[in-house]
Parts: sequence; C-alpha cells; structure tokens
Amino acid sequence: MSKLRFDVVQDAFKKKAVIVETPDTRPSEYFGELVFNREKMYKYLDVKTFNSLIDCIDNGKPLDRETADHVASGMKTWAIEHGVTHITHWFQPLTEGTAEKHDSFMEYDNKGGMIENFDGKSLVQQEPDASSFPNGGIRATFEARGYTAWDPTSPVFIQDDTLCIPTVFIAYTGEALDYKTPLKKALKAVNDAALPICKLFDSKVKKVYSYLGWEQEYFLVDEDLYAARPDLMLTGRTLMGHASSKNQQLDDHYFGAIPSRVAAFMRDIEIAGYKLGIPLKTRHNEVAPNQFELAPIFGETNLSNDQNQLIMNTMNSIARKHGFVVLLHEKPFDGINGSGKHNNWSLGTDTGTLLLAPGKDSKGNLQFVTFFVNVLAAVQKYNGLLKASIASATNAHRLGANEAPPAIVSAFLGKTMTDVLHKLLEVPSDTPIEIAGKKGKSVGLVEIPEIFVDNTDRNRTSPFAFTGNRFEFRAVGSSANCANAMTTLNAAVADQLTAFKKDVDKEIAKGKDVNIAIMDTLKPIIKSIIDVICFDGNGYSDEWQIEAKKRGLDVETCVPQMFKAFTEKENIEMFTRMGIYSEKELEARNEVRWEMYTKKVQIEARVMGRMAINHIIPAALSYQTKLLDNIQKIKDIFPDNYREMAVVEIDLVQKISAKITEIRDKVNSMVEARKEANKITDEYQKALAYYKIAESLFAIRRPIDKLEEIVDNDMWPLPKYRELLFIN
Ligand code: ADP
Ligand code: MG
Repeated sequence: MSKLRFDVVQDAFKKKAVIVETPDTRPSEYFGELVFNREKMYKYLDVKTFNSLIDCIDNGKPLDRETADHVASGMKTWAIEHGVTHITHWFQPLTEGTAEKHDSFMEYDNKGGMIENFDGKSLVQQEPDASSFPNGGIRATFEARGYTAWDPTSPVFIQDDTLCIPTVFIAYTGEALDYKTPLKKALKAVNDAALPICKLFDSKVKKVYSYLGWEQEYFLVDEDLYAARPDLMLTGRTLMGHASSKNQQLDDHYFGAIPSRVAAFMRDIEIAGYKLGIPLKTRHNEVAPNQFELAPIFGETNLSNDQNQLIMNTMNSIARKHGFVVLLHEKPFDGINGSGKHNNWSLGTDTGTLLLAPGKDSKGNLQFVTFFVNVLAAVQKYNGLLKASIASATNAHRLGANEAPPAIVSAFLGKTMTDVLHKLLEVPSDTPIEIAGKKGKSVGLVEIPEIFVDNTDRNRTSPFAFTGNRFEFRAVGSSANCANAMTTLNAAVADQLTAFKKDVDKEIAKGKDVNIAIMDTLKPIIKSIIDVICFDGNGYSDEWQIEAKKRGLDVETCVPQMFKAFTEKENIEMFTRMGIYSEKELEARNEVRWEMYTKKVQIEARVMGRMAINHIIPAALSYQTKLLDNIQKIKDIFPDNYREMAVVEIDLVQKISAKITEIRDKVNSMVEARKEANKITDEYQKALAYYKIAESLFAIRRPIDKLEEIVDNDMWPLPKYRELLFIN
C-alpha cells in the first residue's frame, strides 16, 4: 500500500497537459451551436409556430397542442442533424444536481419498420417514475406520480446523443418537487411587485427581470490521487489530513499563472460552455492552491441558473479527460479556503435600466435609491430566512470559518452609499439626488457617482455586499443549486416592494407629488435599516457576533436549526402571499432538508469510522511493529543500555499507542451515538443528533492528523495534503 501511494504520486506528477481539440471557427461562430435558440427556432419552425413560441416565451401565452407538435417536429429535424437519437426531460429535483431519463426517438412505423418520432406531447409533458426522488412526504410511494413539464423560457439543448428539455417537476397534486418551479414563481412575483414601481418613473417599462451572475469556485485534484482517498470519493471532502508545510500563506496562487494541465481543462470547458450557449467570461486561480473560478456574463436568473447546473455537470466529465476530478464541495480541505458560489444579483427593466445602479439624472437616482433601500429592508426582515436558503451540511464547514462569509446575514454598502443614506435623512424630501460633480461642489446636495469605478473598499467578509450595480450574495455554497437562494431573495424583495408600493400610494392619495411620496415612504425605512442590517465592519470579528445579536439579527450556527426559519409564521405568510410555496410545501421541503443533512453526515461518519479502523490504525500498527522490532534487536545486542539507545523508538511506540487508543475510543462512541440517532424517527430531531455527530468527526481527525506527522512517510496509506494540493 505504501508503495502504491508513492507510485500514484509519481505518476500524477509526470502527467502532461492534454492537447485540446479546438474548433476551426471562432467562439462567436460556434456559440450556442448545441442550443435550440431563437436563431434555430426561426430556421426550423414555420412563421406561425415561431411567433406563437416567442409569445409563449416572452409573454407566458400558453402553447396549444398543435403548435407544440410543430415545435417538436422542428426540434427533431435540428437534433437529428446533430446525430441525436434520444430525448430526455431535464429537471432539478431536491437532491443535488439534475435528473434525466432518456427515451429514444425510435417507434414502430406500423409498416413493419421503425421511425424516429418526437411529438408535441412528449415535448410538453412526461411522467418519470419519480417515487425515489425526495419529496418530504408529499407523495406517499403508492401514489408515486409526478410529472415533468417543459419550461419554454429555458432553451432546449443537446448533450452527446440526447436532446435535453428543461422542465419543472411537479406532483400530481400540484406541489413542486424541484428547484425550478418555485424559482419561476419568485421571478414572476418580483416582476409583479417591481413593475408598478418602475412605472412611477417610466411608463414605458413592461417587464422587470431578475439577473444572476454566478461565480463558481472549485478545486481540481488529480484523478489518481483522488481514487486513493475513499473520503474524497464518497463524501467530496478530506475527512483527515495534516496541513501541508506550505499551503496558502504566500498567497502566490491567487491570480498567478494557471498551470498548463489546468489551462487545458479550462479551455476545454469553455469550448463546451460556448457550444451550450453559456457566455463564460472569467477564469482565474483562487486563493487556495488548486482552487479556481469560472464565471459567465450575467443573465436572466432562471436561465443563468440552468446554465450553472449544466456547467457543473459538464465540468466533471471534461475534467476526467484531463485526468482531474472537480471538487465542488464547500470545504474539501481543512485549514484551506473553501469554495463558494457568489450570486451576483440585480433587477433590470426591458428598457435596459439596471435598477440597482445609479441613474442618468435625479429621477433615475431616486429610482435607484428606492430599489436599493427596499432590497436592504427585505434582507433585514428575512435575514434568518436568507441564511436558511444557503445552509447545508456541506456549506456549514465554510460559513463562519475565517475565509468565508460569517453565519450572520448583514449587508455591506460601502462609504458612498452609507453617506447617501445618512444625507437623505437630513434633507427635505424634495431634494434631488444629483450625479456627483455635475453641479459643482455644493453644500446640502445629495450626490451619487454616475458609476462606482472604485471597488477597492469591497468587503470580503460580508455575505451580502453592494458592488456598484448589483448585490453579491456570497454566502451561497459552491455545490448548491442557486435556485434556493434566488427564490428566497426574489420572494423577499417582491414582498417588500409590494408593501412599499401600497405605502407610496397612500402618500400619493394625500395629494403629494410622486417623488415626495416616495421619499417620505423611504425615510422611515432608511432609519430602520441603517443601524441594523447595514454593517461595513469585519464580519469575522467576535465583537460583530455580539453586536449582531443586539441588533436582532439571526446568529444561529446550527444548520438543522437554521432550516426552521422556513416554517416560521411570518415566513410562511410571506411565501404564500407571494404565491411561491404553500405551507405544506415548506414543511415537506424542510423534511427533505433534514433528511439530506442527516444522510450526508451519516455517510461521512461511516467513512470516517472505516478509514480510521481499516486504514489508519493498521498503518500506525505496522510502523509500531517496525519500531518494536528495532527495539528488540537493539536489546539483543545491547541488553544493558538499550533503553537509552532506543529512547526515540520507545517514545514513538508510546505516542502511537496513545493515539491509536484515542482514535478507537472516539470511533466507538461516535458509532454508539449514530446507533442512538438512527432510532429517532422525527427528521428534525434526528438531524440535530447528527449535528453533534458531525462535530465529533473533528475530534476523531485530530489524533489521526497527529499520527500522520509521526508515522513513516512510506507507510502512510493516503495521499497527503501536500500531494493533493500541489500536483497539477
Ligand atoms: P468579482 O470576482 O470581482 O466579484 P467577476 O467578474 O468574477 O467579479 O464576476 C462578477 C459576476 O457578476 C459576473 O458573472 C458578472 O457578469 C456579474 N454581474 C455584473 N453585473 C451584474 C448585474 N448588474 N447583475 C447581476 N450580475 C452582474
Ligand atoms: Mg465576486
């Protein structure tokens, strides 16, 4: 086994970059090649069908069966030209990742042969046998019926030989069983709430979009080293491993040159992404060794999230071509920065205005401040809920650790916007908000820069930071489906905007000018948020923990407990008011969350137990035996003073014995705790019990990591951190 590790490491080190096959045309030419986008629709559908489909996509008009048949037929022609033989409904169940069931196009032609067939019915709806997807008790298994229904707002695409149709996944009783359905409802809610407010500023606005630009962080490890680590393979993270002598202290990886094997992988993933219509823009090294980031140009939230799901799947298969495995886990290595998925979020209109960016004039600025303040108010009111939306067993390792957002949701504004809010409280409500510099320097004016060019005062410790034309929700985990966070944020903002509009209308009804009515409504909100949710200080500091609690923010750190926010009375009311989740759905989803939490920790605990007993203790015993042999031999030759001569060996033997005993005892009590936890039937209580077990895994790892420090390097069975992190 020791020889094996040595060989694996040598082989990994010798690997060279794979040559990437680059298409002979430019990216702009093959961009979207595998997507049935508007260009393809126009080419493959007749004019009437095309117009109906566009009306369906843009305005939510229903598609009749006949049109769906025509659409399917056009898609089939296009797909077959690309060698496609199968179709699948592609959906996002409450497990991780996406699900698909492939059916071939083949059907009997009733003339003794076969024919490729694909009609509107199989495009629009399917019934996967979905009994094994988590549903939190919504469907008892005997009525395991759920169906998938096409989401025309997200384009159909090709993967390998399969035509993939993005769908929602719903129980026959109507409850959502996926991430996409509630997200789409939240996007509708935010449009419905924001539109009437936009109309106060510009009557031409017809639609408000929610935008998402995700930044996906990930680690790459060599696939052979990965295969020698059962913990990485089964849990996605290392459950043990002593810190490497060099880790990230030099910060030399961040924005450093990208290693050639990795660069080849990145090129490959970009080509695949472009073909799938994903506008990938940024690639770079991250802070930790072997950690990288990938980000597209932002887009409409539902589509952008589909693209994130798609790229997460694609990354893994492409990585294998390059001899890598992608780790999307939030904290694969202890003591090394974890991975997040920053969700850059904003709202914008169909007329091209970004609602969270300064405007062109005082009217535009008032609109900006209106949305800015209301977003903050929503984040304040629902801070515990937003935290619940990003909480998971895996993200728990990242939240609150010193490199990641703290387990308290607060908002970073930056000095400029903080000053603006303070100023607005001082001046009369009819004071225009001018663009800085335009009117020269004058006292008493509220001024805003036209664009925020200076991003230097960005605060990396804030989970929700204003970055000039958007907010960046940084607490989202790298492996998460963004939909959970985006549904919650858009819903909360929609609810706040709805309440705000009602209050403005009351002021207008008193005969006030619109702008004054808006400002008079904004002022008390500004007062209520400025010293609560707004926090520009160090989110990692101990003082902030105390201060945040005083301010009434949610400071809960136990993940199963955080989920409770979803079923708190005012949050249920908000979600039902906005038409996003019913109470039953919220309860069911929490059941799923607790169950998933429990299962994740349970798997980790089992893997930890087995590795400790089957890998670590035997390796330590072998080394101990070697030491004892040595002591025995010394004693044979120098019977009188062998104790002095073998002082190091004897000391090591004792240390190893102590560590082995400690590991064995701790594993035993962890197994006992698991047995007790498994008897609990209530999912919440069970998750709480597993929360304690998760903590106990750290206690087991400590003596193991100590052993790694003293056991003969040749005899250590697992690739070490220095090997996992520095070979590429
Ligand atoms: P940084 O790492 O400096 O935060 P990146 O350039 O890596 O920035 O990523 C920023 C992300 O934010 C990109 O996906 C970008 O398209 C997106 N983004 C930029 N403006 C907006 C906006 N108004 N709304 C949503 N996302 C945006
Ligand atoms: Mg960012």
